[in-house]
Amino acid sequence: MKKALVCGAGGFIGSHLVKRLKDENYWVRGVDLKYPLFSDSRANEFIIGDLTDMNIVKKAITNEIDEVYQLAADMGGADFIFTGENDADIMNNSATVNLNILRMMNDIGINKIFYSSSACIYPENLQLEVDMPALSEDMAYPGNPDSEYGWEKLFSERLYKAYEKNHSFNVRIARFHNIFGPEGVYQGGREKAPAALCRKVAMSNGEDIEVYGDGYQTRSFLYIDECIEGIRRLMDSSINDPINIGSDECISINDFANMIISISKKSIGIQNIEVKQLGVRGRNSDNTLIRDKLGWSPMQSLEVGIKKTYEWIDKDING
Ligand code: NAD
Repeated sequence: MKKALVCGAGGFIGSHLVKRLKDENYWVRGVDLKYPLFSDSRANEFIIGDLTDMNIVKKAITNEIDEVYQLAADMGGADFIFTGENDADIMNNSATVNLNILRMMNDIGINKIFYSSSACIYPENLQLEVDMPALSEDMAYPGNPDSEYGWEKLFSERLYKAYEKNHSFNVRIARFHNIFGPEGVYQGGREKAPAALCRKVAMSNGEDIEVYGDGYQTRSFLYIDECIEGIRRLMDSSINDPINIGSDECISINDFANMIISISKKSIGIQNIEVKQLGVRGRNSDNTLIRDKLGWSPMQSLEVGIKKTYEWIDKDING
């Protein structure tokens, strides 16, 4: 039986990954500052603790572990990442977690690790229009992410590659593009656009919902099940360079909001509001590399995933 450690097992993607690993018969240890918010963890062991503290890292990384999945990070949507108010914490906490984990793995001789990077590493200048070319992996340099969150991810990608080069680590790095789905946080300031839009629609009794920006900005969004499938396929592959795990179905935010409104069957309008924490103008995932290397890429339509997500959030709010 393989043994996995999931760092960030109390978070959105981490908690879904634990379920998948258990379904695949892994023995799983989770570690996080908190338990999952919406359902009990299926991990065999769950350590509550802070991975910036080396004593917790020592408890989590022990020599029976075969694979480490590193998803712990200071994470959030536009209201958390793009206001600038959390930059020092984001960089300090997430970088320290990555540094600690690699040091401890190296000390005890474990070398297989998955790292969750982000589409936020891509240069801002390649995302200034709504219809820019989709982002392929080779566009990452020269580096120019639009947020400190993105810079920390870019630094950590390089950190993992350095351990591969100097200490024979076996690394897998995914650049996630906007993952969404049931059991993701949908309120409180750290929620991302899909969950925030679903919440606003679910809570509306016919009032307009507010949508950030002019609504023409574009993104692609990937449903959680396909993200988890991608993580597992990547981990079992021999691909050791960063690779996109995202959907290439690009949509404007207003069209996305209207899709959710139509799923809700409510009659609701949209009010576009000016905010400073908008992020880039247009972003999409180029999936050529993952298709070539894995013979697989996410294919499910956005509408299928957002319907399941809306129904889950609506039920959680309205019963
Ligand atoms: P999340 O916030 O739900 O999960 C991250 C978890 O890490 C949280 O539960 C948090 O408590 C934990 N954590 C943070 N600091 C910690 C620390 N010092 N010690 C222990 N635990 C700590 O976020 P998520 O959406 O599940 O994202 C998982 C990973 O994927 C993150 O690294 C994130 O940056 C990356 N990512 C996510 C997306 C997305 O759209 N969700 C996109 C790109 C990259």
